Amino acid sequence: MAADPILYLSAQHSLELEALKAAGDEFLSKPISHDLLVEQVKSRAMRARALGSGLSLDGLTGLLRAADARQRLAAISARAGASGRPLSIGLLDLDHFKCVNDNFGHAAGDSVLRALAGTLRRRLRGSDFAGRMGGEEFLVAFEDCTPGEALHLLERLGHEFANLQFGAEGQHWSCTFSAGIAGLAPGETPGYLLERADRALYRAKNEGRNRCVIDAETSP
Ligand code: GH3
Ligand code: MG
Ligand code: MG
Repeated sequence: MAADPILYLSAQHSLELEALKAAGDEFLSKPISHDLLVEQVKSRAMRARALGSGLSLDGLTGLLRAADARQRLAAISARAGASGRPLSIGLLDLDHFKCVNDNFGHAAGDSVLRALAGTLRRRLRGSDFAGRMGGEEFLVAFEDCTPGEALHLLERLGHEFANLQFGAEGQHWSCTFSAGIAGLAPGETPGYLLERADRALYRAKNEGRNRCVIDAETSP
């Protein structure tokens, strides 16, 4: 079992060495924005939880890797099936991401992937989780959430992400994602749930990108 992470937050840089020697994992300097502090704490907590449960995290984004995200989805689907409580998922894919790499370089593309992961971490609740399913595709799962509520959350998240400004070598750009949403139906396998979210994602892309679409088979 991994030890709980310890973060020091102080305005006094001179304390840094002392704090780290006292078995701290990280030293954060004030001033720090509320959002960044929340993200840093959540990121360490997620890492500790993943380590403790034997799950592995993607090196670039710090989110669950695909195989472990599928495993986690299977576990919460079984729980939702047994309790009858709602479960909704979203499959997110960055829009025209190849253009980011082509225009600004691979490292710039990586910073966009990390930023999306950071936005997800900041906004998800403890019972939600996010995983990186492949290059620029992510899974988010919302326990106790109807598809309509998941839509609302993802639209807000999409708006926040689209407002982020990226910059490298004097150039500036922003990025959007599309998302397909599906809600677990009674007796449904997690594999089929993912397939339905993927179909909705395909529709979101076809309908113009930068939008979230609920799978047509999902009851509202
Ligand atoms: P669409 O809106 O249809 O999704 O277009 P797209 O350009 O996002 O999709 P496409 O599948 O054509 O390109 C995905 C790109 O994602 C191509 C690949 O180089 C890039 N990519 C995948 N993994 C990584 C990564 O780890 N880092 C970076 N920088 N790029 C990556
Ligand atoms: Mg894409
Ligand atoms: Mg893709």
